[in-house]
Amino acid sequence: MITVLKFGGTSVGSPEALTRVANIIVNGEGSKAVVVSAMSGITNFLESIVDDPNLKADDALASFEKKHEDVAKQLFDDKTLALFMAEFRERINSFADLLNRPDARKDPYFKDAVVSQGERFSSLLLAHLLNKMGYKAVALTSEMAGIVAVGKPQSGCADLLGTASGMTINVKPLFDSGTVPVITGFYGIEKEGRPLTFGRGGSDYSAAIVANALDADMLEIWTDVDGFMSADPRIIPDAVKVDEMNFGEAAELAYFGAKVLHPRTIEPVRMKHIPLKVRNSFKPEEPGTLIHHLRKPRNDLLRSVAVKTDLSIITVSSAEIAYRPAMVARIIEKIAEINVIVYAISTSLSTIALLVHNLDVKQTLMKLNTLHAADIERIDVKSNVALICAVGDNLLNKCGVSGDIFSVVKDAEANVEMISEGASDVSLNFVVPMDRMMDVVRKLHDRYVGAA
Ligand code: ASP
Ligand code: MG
Repeated sequence: MITVLKFGGTSVGSPEALTRVANIIVNGEGSKAVVVSAMSGITNFLESIVDDPNLKADDALASFEKKHEDVAKQLFDDKTLALFMAEFRERINSFADLLNRPDARKDPYFKDAVVSQGERFSSLLLAHLLNKMGYKAVALTSEMAGIVAVGKPQSGCADLLGTASGMTINVKPLFDSGTVPVITGFYGIEKEGRPLTFGRGGSDYSAAIVANALDADMLEIWTDVDGFMSADPRIIPDAVKVDEMNFGEAAELAYFGAKVLHPRTIEPVRMKHIPLKVRNSFKPEEPGTLIHHLRKPRNDLLRSVAVKTDLSIITVSSAEIAYRPAMVARIIEKIAEINVIVYAISTSLSTIALLVHNLDVKQTLMKLNTLHAADIERIDVKSNVALICAVGDNLLNKCGVSGDIFSVVKDAEANVEMISEGASDVSLNFVVPMDRMMDVVRKLHDRYVGAA
């Protein structure tokens, strides 16, 4: 039995948190591989030093170093500290080389190399802590473990096959001697050997990649909340924790609102039917949320209601756009060039409506204005809307469900501004004005979540 355990930034953010995590690891059964985020706050700090054109590399490095060294001094006895410091110095020296390399900033992967430094040090602290407690553990960087990434700077994806062959050689043999590999999350190695990160919050995805590569029996994502909730507790104070759900439901929820898991975590484990648990490292006695591939028959209509707030609908009008697919393609291409996320699209004979974040409206409009003036009749913007994502397995195959859901929206006196069904049959997504959002969520939650 192989379990992959992933610990987030707050779970490894202090000597006490690291100790709690080490106990969770050693209390687990079977072979274990661990994936860690950087200590909380560290990745933000690293981003700020990359973005600072007047950076004093020595000062930045000294404060980074001190932060980790202080934690080590609180955790370790003299013997462990000496062993730790030897590896620590090596890693600090290569970080210093990176910051001081002439022309380093010209490398498109420079930012990836710097912001991924935090994981190299949190993994080192945790591996040495396990050693100090009498357990075999090694800190492995993604380079050492063989995590292969492809893609553009700061938005890499895993090469799952490449990673599986690397990890079969570099990681699997450790299990024979009962050694726990503690692996850096957040990045893999691109084809020229440079670090490539998976986007902010990407350590969850790293853990799913590792679980996939090792053919693990279970992936546990340990974070600082109890699991997925039936709604955002700030909106619905009596929201309850969801005990179990399937991959489809979790993927929609992770994408549209609930910040519990990085949305890309689901796919690598779903492919191999590896169950995933979301658990709270501050309350290890709680079972968390189990996510699996089974689709159990259920009586209640909805599992959870998620919301994405502060969005805008940009509507492009153009004569008979529906008959001009090349025009639609050009609009989408323009937006892709600026990497703006489009949360939903809907088209009619003469309009295409795009749902984007309020903060992305300005640059999207600037980009759309570079389209040929003759092609566009008008562009309208409706700001301050919210996307409601009603999630329940098999939702869209049940007759009359949309009618039921929209009757609740009517009761909340909200106008539905846009509708998009989830690509899977587990979610119905629609847009309402921000000022009606709370009421819609509350009414949907009261009526359909957990109700038989
Ligand atoms: N440390 C990285 C971040 O803060 C990755 C992660 O925590 O998942 O984004
Ligand atoms: Mg996270």
